[in-house]
Amino acid sequence: MAQKEVDDRFKRFGTVSFTAVTRTNDFVGYLEQGKIMGTGCKACGATYFPPRSDCFRCLDSNMEWFEVSGTGSLLSFTELEYAPAGFEDDLPYTIALLDYGGYKVFGRISKDIPYEELQVGMELKAEVKTLPNGQLNYVFTRP
Ligand SMILES: [Zn+2]
Repeated sequence: MAQKEVDDRFKRFGTVSFTAVTRTNDFVGYLEQGKIMGTGCKACGATYFPPRSDCFRCLDSNMEWFEVSGTGSLLSFTELEYAPAGFEDDLPYTIALLDYGGYKVFGRISKDIPYEELQVGMELKAEVKTLPNGQLNYVFTRP
C-alpha cells in the first residue's frame, strides 16, 4: 500500500503552530527562503495577508503569491502581559498591525525596538526570523 505523503510544512510557522496542514503550505516554504508572502486574486485583484487560497471577495480560487516587501505604516499596537498557552515564555511582547496600502499585516514588534519608541504612523518592515527551537516567524523591525 502506498503511503500518503502529507505536506505538513505549516507546522514550522510560529512559536506554537496550530495547523500543520493547510492549503497555504507554500507560505512556510517562502519563509525558509526569507520571504513573507501574501496572496492576490487574479480575478478581482484583492490581496490577502495572511494568505488565503480562495478569494473572499469574488470566491475565485485563482490566486497568486506576492511578496510583502518595503515598509508598512504602524496602524496600532499593544503590549501583551498575558498570552495564549505556549507563548508565556515570550512575555511581555508587542503585537501590531502594519498598513501596506492594499493589505494589512498582523504580527509582533521586534524586541529591538523599545515600546516607548513606538508611534502610530511610523514605518516598519517585516522580517523573517528563525526562533531558537527552529520554528519560523516574522517580526516588525526598523527599515
Ligand atoms: Zn477575487
